[in-house]
Amino acid sequence: MFVGHYAAAFAARTIPKSPNLATCFVAVQLVDIGFFSLAFFGVEKWRPDPAIAGIMPVDLYYMPYTHSLAGSAAWALAAGALIAAIVARDRKLVAGAIVAALVFSHWLLDLVVHRPDLGIFDDEPVKLGFGLWDWPRIEMPLEIGLLLGAFWIYLRATRARTEWGRWSPWLLLGYLLLIQSINWFSAPPQGAAAFSGLGLLAYGASAAFAYWVERTRADRLGLE
Ligand SMILES: [Zn+2]
Repeated sequence: MFVGHYAAAFAARTIPKSPNLATCFVAVQLVDIGFFSLAFFGVEKWRPDPAIAGIMPVDLYYMPYTHSLAGSAAWALAAGALIAAIVARDRKLVAGAIVAALVFSHWLLDLVVHRPDLGIFDDEPVKLGFGLWDWPRIEMPLEIGLLLGAFWIYLRATRARTEWGRWSPWLLLGYLLLIQSINWFSAPPQGAAAFSGLGLLAYGASAAFAYWVERTRADRLGLE
């Protein structure tokens, strides 16, 4: 799952005292940012597997630090604590809780789509994953539907603050759909540098895009 994770970010940003949309964007992909970084150094492991039909023909065979249940929970707690430490006093609890929930939401959504490659505490032989990636005709509309639903909620909760603000959310949506279709319909990169580099570039650009959108939009509902 790629853009489906951003559904949680768009929805969470409509909660009063929630963090910036860019922070929410980083939070929902934080464990993947960790995975691509660790995979670059060979600490977590993947390999192309052309035998896999369906989405993501890649065997994600060693991801204990980022994609085990315990690993994801630890990243969520650490990120929530970090945000709570740096935001203003009246936002600490809500912003910290939202970021922790967003970071952990990644694992829950991955659980639905991944083939069984998610451990509980570490890298046990028995792994979790409902494998919806093997059912693209269900997974694809589900992922896009999640994104569009949350995008609509975000649009309704905010209004344009600048001239660009009328178009900026739509440009972001178009960008996300473009990246998703590249991810779905082109062959995955083979080398470690390309695999990790493109992944991190996509997440970084998405967060930067969200930061710009936030600057062009204001809260319609006085959410701050
Ligand atoms: Zn993931």
